[in-house]
Amino acid sequence: MTAQILDGKALAKMIREEIKAEAARFTRETSVRPGLAVILIGEDPASQVYVRNKEKACGEAGIHSIRRDLPANASQDEVLALIDRLNMDPTVHGILVQLPVPKQIAPLVVQERVDPRKDVDGFHPINVGRLSMGLESLVPCTPLGVIEILKRANIPIKGTNCVIVGRSNIVGKPMVQLLLREHATVTVCHSRTQNLPAVCRNADILIAATGQMHMVRKDWIKPGATVIDVGISFEEVNGKFVQRGDVHRQEAEETAGFLSPSPGGPGPMTIAMLLANTVKAARLQLAHA
Ligand code: NDP
Repeated sequence: MTAQILDGKALAKMIREEIKAEAARFTRETSVRPGLAVILIGEDPASQVYVRNKEKACGEAGIHSIRRDLPANASQDEVLALIDRLNMDPTVHGILVQLPVPKQIAPLVVQERVDPRKDVDGFHPINVGRLSMGLESLVPCTPLGVIEILKRANIPIKGTNCVIVGRSNIVGKPMVQLLLREHATVTVCHSRTQNLPAVCRNADILIAATGQMHMVRKDWIKPGATVIDVGISFEEVNGKFVQRGDVHRQEAEETAGFLSPSPGGPGPMTIAMLLANTVKAARLQLAHA
């Protein structure tokens, strides 16, 4: 069997065009441009690249982007004061604090300070709670992108056995809620799960989000299953860093029915969902102004 590839890059491109149209419609209707503020603390090179990519994506989608850089030694109070200002700013509909943050800053304290209506990362406890109760909320971008990949490929979710490997607040846990919302039967695995390959082999949809390179092998995959590889690791090959996923791609291609690989799967969808969340946040804020 050769798995059909669920190409997240192509899908993200298409969705970003849709968001561009939606942002333009919103601006026509309200005379307001959706705005996203990104806070970058310190000079982590990977974070700089991520933030630049987000700014570029905003520009292409007609979303106003505001970047606020703070030095690596910024105090938590300075970060909180900046968030307070952005919370009050009517041109800003989404606020994102680029992770990781320096040691002196507690990510949760910062995330809790963001107005939940502007929390386009979906990390605020209010949004987490609302998601778990099945209420309207802003949802974390990566799991949202995974659902979009499945839905746009018409892969049935209702009644299926879904196995998620990884239980982080960013990916694994919100993924559970989104799959439950779609009426899947969900199993969540982590580093203490026993007989992990056997549990994964039971999955109709297997979602790997651990950061453990090539952990998911051929015998972890039920023939014909759908495999979504969220993991991002880097391997040095001939002096260059090459992105790898949690899933052994070649083996998965031989076994799975559908594969959304890393790179080229959920990764590109994450930024597309950030843009979607920003437009959604802008709409909700103007509706309730
Ligand atoms: P975390 O490190 O927060 O969580 C990793 C999870 O994987 C934990 O629940 C951990 O278990 C579990 N885990 C680790 N090792 C094993 C193992 N050997 N067997 C079973 N479970 C294991 O990572 P994130 O959730 O933030 O990210 C996961 C991966 O997804 C990373 O590679 C990250 O780079 C990538 N990612 C990609 C994004 C994208 O845009 N595509 C966005 C976000 C993340 P335990 O809880 O027991 O420690």
